[in-house]
Amino acid sequence: MDPVTRALDELYRRISGLRGGEVASYIPELARADPEDFGIAITSMGGRCYRAGRADSEFTIQSVSKPFVYALALTDLGPDEMLGRVGVEPSGEAFNAVSLEPGTGRPANPMVNAGAIATTALVSASGPEARSARILDWLSAFAGRRLGYDEEVYASEAATGDRNRALAYLMRSAGSLREDPYEVTATYFRQCSVLVTAGDLAVMAATLANGGLNPVTGERVVDRGVAVRTLAVMATCGMYDGAGEWLLNVGLPAKSGVSGGLIAVGPGRFGVAVYSPPLDPAGNSVRGVAALTAMSERLALHLMHAPVHLAATVTDTGHGARSSRARSAEQAALLNGSSRRIIAVGAQGELEFTETEQLLGAVEGAVAGPPGWLVLDLMAVTGIRPGSAAMLAAGLADVARRGHRIVVAAQEPFLAAAADEHPAWQAFASRDDAVAWCEDQLLAGGPPADPPAARGGG
Ligand code: GLU
Repeated sequence: MDPVTRALDELYRRISGLRGGEVASYIPELARADPEDFGIAITSMGGRCYRAGRADSEFTIQSVSKPFVYALALTDLGPDEMLGRVGVEPSGEAFNAVSLEPGTGRPANPMVNAGAIATTALVSASGPEARSARILDWLSAFAGRRLGYDEEVYASEAATGDRNRALAYLMRSAGSLREDPYEVTATYFRQCSVLVTAGDLAVMAATLANGGLNPVTGERVVDRGVAVRTLAVMATCGMYDGAGEWLLNVGLPAKSGVSGGLIAVGPGRFGVAVYSPPLDPAGNSVRGVAALTAMSERLALHLMHAPVHLAATVTDTGHGARSSRARSAEQAALLNGSSRRIIAVGAQGELEFTETEQLLGAVEGAVAGPPGWLVLDLMAVTGIRPGSAAMLAAGLADVARRGHRIVVAAQEPFLAAAADEHPAWQAFASRDDAVAWCEDQLLAGGPPADPPAARGGG
């Protein structure tokens, strides 16, 4: 058994002993769920799936469909129009509350029923059947397999769902729902009756964690910006009236449903799902909440735990860098004699704000002397955020203005970007080539740096 499965299994065993909570019965068919059914699943960003317990038991997705359908409507409408139609404020009320904005009738957020019904109505389609089909396709793409419906649960909810219909009629009378309330609630009940397993939900959650790219199938299901907005709404509104306490204790965007499903997302890390039908008074799975709380504590998953930057960004800074080129004794003497003029600074890893700020500090320290050639070795850099790239460029422009020549060694795609965006920089595919070029310049008696102004800025 691999270590992740072992840890999951151990957690599963510990939480299995937990009793308490009630299986939802207001949809009569849901009351038939086995309270002992319990499964946990995790999907990593590498697309690996880990499972413990009955992670293959099927159940209806219910409200866990809400963030995904929100992502679909958001894709159709765009952020501004979506926000005008459905709010993003936690209602602090139960899932079936009448939480409509006074005056406009706009529902509080897409995670309570009113907002979810309004959201379903916003999915573009030629009619109710086409809308249901689009939603099923969409959820299936997140899960990475073809999903189907539980017809009994659908019929049971359709037969008893008058409160949801009442919410829809209220929204229609307030002007915040344009579609036919009866039809829209039927589509919403269909969406809630989609059958999934904890394993499916983990893949769906992992797709949101992975910026909208399904890590198992490799399919881009949703735009990164939409995935981020969806996670933000889950973080504030995903856990019914328990959302505040959840963010405090677990600290991950999440969504639960009345059938006992629960997903949580570690952005850029994993998607996790738990299925266990007994619910706490806030409507969240008792074992689901316990499992996620334990997991978050143990693995320090809370989003407010700022990442610790353990790895040093700057690998070396040195004056008198030398290449592997063969040089005559005379050239070597010249190069060694002018050792302060070729300065190398190396960096590694991902350059986000903190790392770039560290790197620029090292560059500043290294170029304090007379003008020379600054070789910035980015060969071991694996990623540069756009904001960090701009920050780095501004810092280097400043160094160039003081008479230093900027020479960069980097791998693709940074090499091409540096050559395109900074014609005044000299860019090479290895540190050795970069230093050798500086040596050639120095031996040819070139100035420490060509005056940047004469080269059209730097
Ligand atoms: N279909 C359920 C309802 O609208 C979903 C509720 C939930 O999972 O919170 O009542």
